[in-house]
Amino acid sequence: MSRIHALPPQLINQIAAGEVVDRPDSVVKELIENSLDAGATRIEVDLERGGIKRIRVRDNGRGIEREDLPLAVARHATSKIATLSDLEAVSTLGFRGEALPSIASVSRLEICSRDAAAEHAWRVWSDGSEAPPDPAPAAHPTGTTIEVHDLFFNVPARRKFLRTEKTELAHVEQLVRRMALARPEVALRLDHNGRNLFDLRPADAAGTTIVARLRALLGDAFVEQSLSVEDAAVGLQLHGWVARPAFARSQGDMQFFFVNGRVVRDKLVSHAVRQAYQDVLHHGRHPAYVLYLQVPPRQVDVNVHPAKHEVRFREGRQVHDFLFRSLHRRLAEGSVARGVAPMGFPTAPREVREAPAGEAPYQRPFPLRCTDGPGAYAAAFDLQRPPPGADPAAPPPAEQPGASEDGSSAAPLGYALGQLNGVYVLAQASDGLIVVDMHAAHERIGYERLKAAWEQGELRRQPLLVPVVVHLSPAEADLAESHLGLLDRLGLGISRLAEDRVAVREVPAILQAVDPEQLLRDLIADLLAEGNSERVRDEVNGVLATIACHGSVRANRRLTLPEMNALLRDMERTERADQCNHGRPTWIKLSHQELDRLFMRGR
Ligand code: ADP
Ligand code: MG
Repeated sequence: MSRIHALPPQLINQIAAGEVVDRPDSVVKELIENSLDAGATRIEVDLERGGIKRIRVRDNGRGIEREDLPLAVARHATSKIATLSDLEAVSTLGFRGEALPSIASVSRLEICSRDAAAEHAWRVWSDGSEAPPDPAPAAHPTGTTIEVHDLFFNVPARRKFLRTEKTELAHVEQLVRRMALARPEVALRLDHNGRNLFDLRPADAAGTTIVARLRALLGDAFVEQSLSVEDAAVGLQLHGWVARPAFARSQGDMQFFFVNGRVVRDKLVSHAVRQAYQDVLHHGRHPAYVLYLQVPPRQVDVNVHPAKHEVRFREGRQVHDFLFRSLHRRLAEGSVARGVAPMGFPTAPREVREAPAGEAPYQRPFPLRCTDGPGAYAAAFDLQRPPPGADPAAPPPAEQPGASEDGSSAAPLGYALGQLNGVYVLAQASDGLIVVDMHAAHERIGYERLKAAWEQGELRRQPLLVPVVVHLSPAEADLAESHLGLLDRLGLGISRLAEDRVAVREVPAILQAVDPEQLLRDLIADLLAEGNSERVRDEVNGVLATIACHGSVRANRRLTLPEMNALLRDMERTERADQCNHGRPTWIKLSHQELDRLFMRGR
């Protein structure tokens, strides 16, 4: 052991880099964030070999003055906050003043920048060690270009962890996608080895290019399969899009959540979203969404993670419940409940509201346009309602025969014509042909009914012949004991036997088949993580879904016309009737225009 000594600056920075920089995408993230903080309206990212060889980020932001250049690469030097009070209400993406020195210490970094007042640009390089050499004059328009060469060339251990060029590029692409969604008003371009991958124009005031951006980044299907969301309560504002459950994915790769314009991966948030989808998503499928949450800056702590991926909400419970309720309601509304909207929904672009100074930009939502073509077929399940405040005078879509003015005729799903293949019900609606998957629809209705009955009725409980003794840690047993009331309401009779043991004496009758010990353990885990539990509800819903599935109309059963009509009316009355319990659609519509197009009539 040697004596205590202060570490040299470069090593300090390399240690910090361990937290902030782990691969090219994290470098790109820090550089883009800096450009955004500098007020850039155009950012160009250019990579070589997945960013391992070279990352260049060029912006047209406000630039850095000559005197400040050495400070930009000095540790704990920032232009973004000055006091603790600033830290508690950060409105910029950066504030720690450690990204540039960290990156410089594990690569070859060069900055070239010109602020608007300067006669020309200045260039400086740094390796994160001592003060960088004096800036040298350079040519550059107002703005900044930062080049990072040979990432981890001096940290072999880290370099070993870099994957193939293709993998690193994929990470950067996903990062750029996130940033591009976070700030649709900024033009963003990504090139790799001289090939252009994204060239995204800024969302203009007409709002239409936001759709273009969504299409470019997430694909047409996402746009056509999404419901727009807009909600506000208790000082929180939420807007964005959630994909209909039928569009669920096998990976959670289309989940974008932004808090005050910041890309956030947060357990509380994803839990709330998952919860909102729980009834309508097949197990193992992942919802797709792009959601923007605005929270008063003082209600959220962004200083909890060096790379700032996570945030801490001061009122976590409130945020969770707000998200859950907004999304759950939106998904439940589906489209039947509010009437079958006509196809070719008018594009009523909403302006992008410029954020007041100091506030993160907030982009207003807009109704998505369901374009013609094959996508329109799928989109016909559900169409965007005009967001509150949308121009009510906006003309209804052209060529819209038979659609009632408010979009809700007496029988949105129309009247039965007959049965096809013993599987589908065909119905004539005011504006098209409706095709219903009988089994899926019936299953959904049955499930919702059972659930409502269970929720309203007295919860029947089943005493266990032999109480099940569950061994817990004393802390877990304490937790269970302090929630006896809650557990009781959920139908679980529990008593404490010893410091580290409890007995389960009663379970909800409907959950007789469930392992009481596992249920209790899961409940306690939920209580620890969330402070409440949806677990029993999940379990119950699972059981109800199974019952509904077995009890529903089997394919090939012949229905009478009155029975078919009864099914249609039931669907209109039922929440979430748009998709079956496995997230498949229960009905589709072929509008008159669609039919006309198929037969090449008119037009
Ligand atoms: P932070 O972003 O936390 O302040 P950084 O190390 O990322 O720390 O950047 C240090 C400083 O350099 C910033 O505070 C900012 O003043 C300046 N800076 C960095 N990148 C840019 C840029 N692209 N345009 C203008 N200024 C920049
Ligand atoms: Mg920064």
